[in-house]
Amino acid sequence: MTLTVAVTGNAGPKASARHPGIGRSHNIALMGELDHTDPALTNETIELLQQLIRNACVNDGTVESGEEVRNSDLLETFLEGAGVDVESFESEPGRRSLVARLSGTDPAAPKLCLMGHTDVVPVNPDGWSRDPFGGELVDGEVWGRGAVDMLNLTSSMAVAFRHIVRSGYRPRGDVIYFGVADEEAGGTYGAKWMAEHHWDAIECDYVLTEFGGMPNHTPQGTKITLAAGEKGIGWRRLTVRGTPGHGSMPFGTDNALIKAAEIVRRIAEYRPAPQLTEMWQHHVSTLRVDDETREALLDPARVYDAVAGIDSPGLARHLHACSHTTFSPNVVGGGNKTNIIPDKVEIEVDIRTAPGDPVEVNEHLRAALGELFDEVEIEHLHDDPASSSPTNTPMWQLLSELVAKAHPGAPVIPQLIVGATDARFFRLKGAVAYGAGLFSNRVNSNDFMLRFHGNDERVDVDSLALSTQLWIDVIRNLGDVANR
Ligand SMILES: [Zn+2]
Repeated sequence: MTLTVAVTGNAGPKASARHPGIGRSHNIALMGELDHTDPALTNETIELLQQLIRNACVNDGTVESGEEVRNSDLLETFLEGAGVDVESFESEPGRRSLVARLSGTDPAAPKLCLMGHTDVVPVNPDGWSRDPFGGELVDGEVWGRGAVDMLNLTSSMAVAFRHIVRSGYRPRGDVIYFGVADEEAGGTYGAKWMAEHHWDAIECDYVLTEFGGMPNHTPQGTKITLAAGEKGIGWRRLTVRGTPGHGSMPFGTDNALIKAAEIVRRIAEYRPAPQLTEMWQHHVSTLRVDDETREALLDPARVYDAVAGIDSPGLARHLHACSHTTFSPNVVGGGNKTNIIPDKVEIEVDIRTAPGDPVEVNEHLRAALGELFDEVEIEHLHDDPASSSPTNTPMWQLLSELVAKAHPGAPVIPQLIVGATDARFFRLKGAVAYGAGLFSNRVNSNDFMLRFHGNDERVDVDSLALSTQLWIDVIRNLGDVANR
């Protein structure tokens, strides 16, 4: 996904009371937000983030890309000497992940894993107004690929973890820092591989990872979203057969491409039943829409039209994806020569299943294709179920309380991630996984989504301060989590 973001004017460096030497601007409200953060630690997070960005661990999906060894070694050096055991794991040459553990005082207490991926997605530098791998600090923002996905969290988690270790504090349960490779291409050489081969190293009760903590400004006030679930993946390759013949005599022939075109048309037109889960109801509560639209969005019979009536295309797209299993035919291949009627066409469809959807992916395809279903061969390219974690847990409660320190009175709303993250591997193993973090009022959900895999990705220093403090507070309150 590549999106263009308007670049805000650079007003030039401004002195900051809390981060001397760091040019940034903020208002009174932000000063309040930051009262409980530590400027020295924030500076550590800034510097570590800059180095992680500059290492440019770009994952293009090939096994030889990523080279997360650079960021893994950087994090190892950062954490080493703090008095913790650091172990690294290499699934393939260069695809290194790192695990550091701070042992708790009570082996029976809940274990927490802070997981940050170390890879980033590719960029098109033409769309950027600064060096995507420069890690520049400009007007209180750190620029570069990974600034919000998710080196901001990977760095702030490492800083919080090291700070806790150095302070001599012993949490009740084990705390694990997991800097993981290959999230951006599905975790094959990272979290998936670790869960399959080294589960002992990362086994935990709770994992906190990307992404959450964005303020949503709604007519009912500010609400903060944390991720509690994500959609499933059901990628399929459909092979359509025909009978070869001479292109000069098409009449009445069995042309695989014409059949494939009709199949693509039916998939595009297919409308599965909406899945209006509890998480969807929460999501709707965060929207800036009028009451009538809000009601329609919660009505299975009207939700599709309500989404279609929303005037922001990006928002409509996201809302549709959050409430439906989606089908996007994205790759097509077939035919050999202009004068030969093709006997084989392949179509790849990106299918994302909604949590709670009782219909199997292939049954959806049967419904979409009608009688043509029997004419296609279906190959499963990738299957992962949708996953979610309950929110009636002590960890959710703790996160809600900590979020309120920065955003007083703002309720925390569980949200669905429409893509996939490494959280799913932990949920499959029975751990509770949330997408967390904490952003300042300088970033709203919309900005965040535009920067995510987009141009001019950047994060403000205040958000780095808040996230760093969030992880510290979570670790310090682990005993509470055990007692609740
Ligand atoms: Zn990410």
